[in-house]
Amino acid sequence: MEALPTNLQRLQGKVAIVTGGSRGIGRATALALAAEGAKVVVNYASSRESADRVVAEVEAMGSQAIALPADVSKADQVDELVNAVMEKWGQVDVLVNNAGITRDTLLLRMKPEDWQAVIDLNLTGVFLCTRAVSKIMLKQRSGRIVSITSVAGQMGNPGQANYSAAKAGVIGFTKTVAKELATRGITVNAVAPGFITTDMTADVKAEGILQFIPLGRYGKPEEVAGLIRFLAADPAAAYITGQVMNVDGGMVMA
Ligand code: NAP
Repeated sequence: MEALPTNLQRLQGKVAIVTGGSRGIGRATALALAAEGAKVVVNYASSRESADRVVAEVEAMGSQAIALPADVSKADQVDELVNAVMEKWGQVDVLVNNAGITRDTLLLRMKPEDWQAVIDLNLTGVFLCTRAVSKIMLKQRSGRIVSITSVAGQMGNPGQANYSAAKAGVIGFTKTVAKELATRGITVNAVAPGFITTDMTADVKAEGILQFIPLGRYGKPEEVAGLIRFLAADPAAAYITGQVMNVDGGMVMA
């Protein structure tokens, strides 16, 4: 088990929603935000036990968390999720749009349902959650929104036309929403991981990939969570909006 993040409490009294917080990068993010004192909403789709484990880990750190199921590609479920958070804690200060899936196959073999499922969650889900939460943040006149994109959305990746399109869409969406919400003190940024060791990459063969990673290894979920934590909690991040920041071992150098 990795070392738990240093406890700084800069989000004491704040509420953070992490979509797909039950596993991988989302789990590491939930723990990192809890280390800042945030009350954390651990959203999940089906892994109730994993989500409950994250809640227990957060509680062991002395913070509060709740596991809430919702398929964030569905508007009614997103609204229910956000309403449940408002009923329980009455505010939303941080949204991390992390939930994502892959349905990899080459273009000619890609079925419309492979395309649609990935667009629905990885792009439409980001729109739905951001829209629901921004209404609250606009009233609060503060908030931090971080969406997870990917190097695949920046440079393309064979077998991932659906995923790359969705992740590139997240980048355009982030820049537009950052401009729309800036006057109310809400920042909107995207984090672009490279290859990170999670269930999502468990079947990807490392041999062919490591040569494209200057640092020569996969990243850890905690390394992505560290940047999300900075964007969500650090006072210095208040002047950063509309940006795409990579955590990719040097794969993409703009
Ligand atoms: P992961 O380990 O496969 O975890 C995916 C998470 O998303 C799980 O918590 C899962 O919940 C949740 N989820 C799936 N479908 C959902 C839905 N319809 N509604 C709500 N939650 C849903 O993935 P990961 O590797 O941590 O990836 C997290 C994010 O980083 C994704 O957006 C991914 O595209 C992005 N990313 C990952 C990498 C990488 O190398 N791993 C690289 C670039 C970008 P359940 O546990 O309930 O299934």
